Amino acid sequence: MKVAKNTVVSITYTLKDSDGNLLDSTDASDPLAYLHGVGNLISGMEKALDDRDSGETFQVIIPPEDGYGKFDDDLVWELEKSQFAEMGEIEEGTQFVLETEDDQVLVTVVDIREDMVIVDGNHELADETLHFDITVVEVRDATPEELEHGHAHGPGSAHDHDHG
Ligand SMILES: [Zn+2]
Repeated sequence: MKVAKNTVVSITYTLKDSDGNLLDSTDASDPLAYLHGVGNLISGMEKALDDRDSGETFQVIIPPEDGYGKFDDDLVWELEKSQFAEMGEIEEGTQFVLETEDDQVLVTVVDIREDMVIVDGNHELADETLHFDITVVEVRDATPEELEHGHAHGPGSAHDHDHG
């Protein structure tokens, strides 16, 4: 069966940066399952997987625009340290959700100065060109419930939950 919109696809992958450093990988025995065609994966990955057959193995190089985006200076904020009073101890690497005027952004503390704290809401893989080795393990039709929820259920999915 081929990968198409509204199929549930199980893949294993290895992700490296342009220097060949390993960034992420799945366990061969624990594939990632996702609902194809609704934007659950980065666009470059869904494009590369479209129309692939189960059992296929391939490589794809994804530029930042189709991956985790270009680094965006607008997602870096300087906040006054006094705003952190209730948060207790913070250090570089601390993550929290920042409420902006029209959004909620997961940010990471990247620098702490005398009375300012610099936080960064860019994805940690922003600006990276992504080098994937992908194997399509299984392709199946999505269930009506999966289509309704917009994500895959069952082993390997991020939503292996009980819907009652
Ligand atoms: Zn669900």
